[in-house]
Amino acid sequence: MEKDEKNMDNKSREFASYEELKCKASNLAKNIDFTAKMGDINIIRKKGFPISQYGVYTKSKSPKTFKIPVDAGFSCPNKDGTLDDKGCIYCPKMGRPISVEYCNRKYSLKEQIEFQLNEHSRKGITNFYVYFYPATNTYDTPENLKKLWDFALSYNTVIGLSIGTRPDCLEVEKLDILETYVKQGYDIWIDLGVQSLQDKTLDLLNRKHNATDTLNAIKNCKERGIKVCGHIILGLPGETKKEMRETAELLSLIKIDALKIYPLVVIENTKLEEMYWNAEYKSLDKIQYVGLVIDFLENISPQILIQRISKDKVPNEIKISPEWDLGRLKILNEVSNNLKSRKSFQGSKFNI
Ligand code: SF4
Repeated sequence: MEKDEKNMDNKSREFASYEELKCKASNLAKNIDFTAKMGDINIIRKKGFPISQYGVYTKSKSPKTFKIPVDAGFSCPNKDGTLDDKGCIYCPKMGRPISVEYCNRKYSLKEQIEFQLNEHSRKGITNFYVYFYPATNTYDTPENLKKLWDFALSYNTVIGLSIGTRPDCLEVEKLDILETYVKQGYDIWIDLGVQSLQDKTLDLLNRKHNATDTLNAIKNCKERGIKVCGHIILGLPGETKKEMRETAELLSLIKIDALKIYPLVVIENTKLEEMYWNAEYKSLDKIQYVGLVIDFLENISPQILIQRISKDKVPNEIKISPEWDLGRLKILNEVSNNLKSRKSFQGSKFNI
């Protein structure tokens, strides 16, 4: 065997197969369950919604809530040289593109929270989550994280936290602290960068963690009462529809609570931008993306709550592609109408 072939062979053997991951997910999820019960989902369906929309689900459970995004100045082990210094191929300099004025390091954390609390309280909202948004928001010592989380929860209208992070930065010491908040009655969510559960894709994206890390992280959170919302990108380089369906099935098997699904966006000064200009990556058009979302939704459990199916606004100055409007509501309406006209719905092909 030629040397290169041998290297390829060794590499592919490091990647877990779908069957291996399926077995792993089923074992890990034995004692955990979805947040949403099937009875609640049936109510959503009877109201005419083909998608298990998180907003519709929570509306029936609690007064209107709002997530306050904050930038607490975190870095990422995939960018600071600990795992790598290049980051994921699509990641912009600031960790995630943000277009919320007060989610900005030029303001203190206190100012970011209070500006937004006041602004949205005036609109009648009484319950808030503090959403630690850009970069890897659990990348610090447990002691420092606790101080930050205690501070965010010290506001009496804050009912919980959303914490954006990577699967390999959720050590048990940190999760144990979060579990103490769950026991006090707070609603604690991890916004987890899953992207895909295909090891070969995660490798290509330079994520520096694998699908098994993700399954373990979800299980470790859920067994402590911490809810997990996975971020999934459809249309990643080299992924087939079948591979995306496998990710859908594995997320259902591990009983993830919620998902945010979005298209891959090419942002300036990223490795992906280089690939785009070198014709190594082509963005999906809107019809292709809507088709993939429909297929993905049909193949996931109806008990997974969908927080959104498009991207948070990416400032036009840094967005290279795609050119079509990523507007959340437009995509949601398009996918919902398409599902309805086909007499289909989330989970219609889910059969594990
Ligand atoms: S894990 Fe997140 S913050 Fe870190 S490089 Fe990847 S996308 Fe950027």
